[in-house]
Amino acid sequence: MAVALLIGVGVFVAARLSSVKPSASIIASNFIGYDFARAITGEASEVTMLLKPGTEAHAYEPTPEDIINIQKADLFIYVGGESDTWIEDLILDNEISAQHILRLMDYVEVKTEELVEGMDSEAEHDHDSDHDHGSDALDVEYDEHIWTSPVNAIRLVDSIKTKLIMLHPDKAALYNENAAAYVKQLYSIDQSIRDIVASSNKNTLVFADRFPFRYFVDEYGLDYYAAFPGCAEQTEASSKTIAFLIDKTNNMHIGTILKIELTSSRLAESIAAETGAQVLELHAGHNIAEADFDRGVTYVDILRHNVEVLKEALK
Ligand SMILES: [Zn+2]
Repeated sequence: MAVALLIGVGVFVAARLSSVKPSASIIASNFIGYDFARAITGEASEVTMLLKPGTEAHAYEPTPEDIINIQKADLFIYVGGESDTWIEDLILDNEISAQHILRLMDYVEVKTEELVEGMDSEAEHDHDSDHDHGSDALDVEYDEHIWTSPVNAIRLVDSIKTKLIMLHPDKAALYNENAAAYVKQLYSIDQSIRDIVASSNKNTLVFADRFPFRYFVDEYGLDYYAAFPGCAEQTEASSKTIAFLIDKTNNMHIGTILKIELTSSRLAESIAAETGAQVLELHAGHNIAEADFDRGVTYVDILRHNVEVLKEALK
């Protein structure tokens, strides 16, 4: 119902402004930058996403055409974490102008990825060695999933809005109005999550998957166990990690095993089969399925889904 309504609004705006040339071309590296820029500019800009809908965000490699498009864009929005090292290289080589970029990790307090008890440490090992080849490899690896906290999402919408107004001051009123409407929805979701956490006597989440939700759990004071750290490429958990997650699920009477979007549910299903728990998906928003993309699903829609999942998981 909500989605149908959104599409209706989109069509109406498109028809009304169809004679107006989009004032800016914006490219975003992932779904988050895409969704926020789209929400702020409406039909006043042409916003595109580099990732193909439905694809794994961490496996993305830019094509020469992508790079040419980024060079021509009025604004290029990227996160600035380990998935985006190729962008930082292009900026260092002056292939992309620093004036026309927005690095989202500059606008929130960043945290390092962490290893918690039971996590597959081999995953962390693979993960590190993967990033050791570059001469500019950083010693500390920051967790790039900053947007998973709705509080951060509010800051990110604001930073994109400010940058867009700098580029197109004549659109300030429209961008301010659109951003305010979007941020209002984010505040309401933030409050729903706080209410759920406050009224539950549980506060531990179990992920039989990678864990991109560090910013989310920290914001709401939740604990978690997970099979792998945030951006690990490994998806085969060790028997030790599987046994650990099964034990925690049983001992803590956890009724819901979580998995993230666009990954296999095999590990989650096998832990669920051993424990009698259900499997639900908490969506991290890196990218969305093609059908959802075509329907115009927004990050707010994803968060509303997550609110329902959280309610179940903390039951
Ligand atoms: Zn990730």
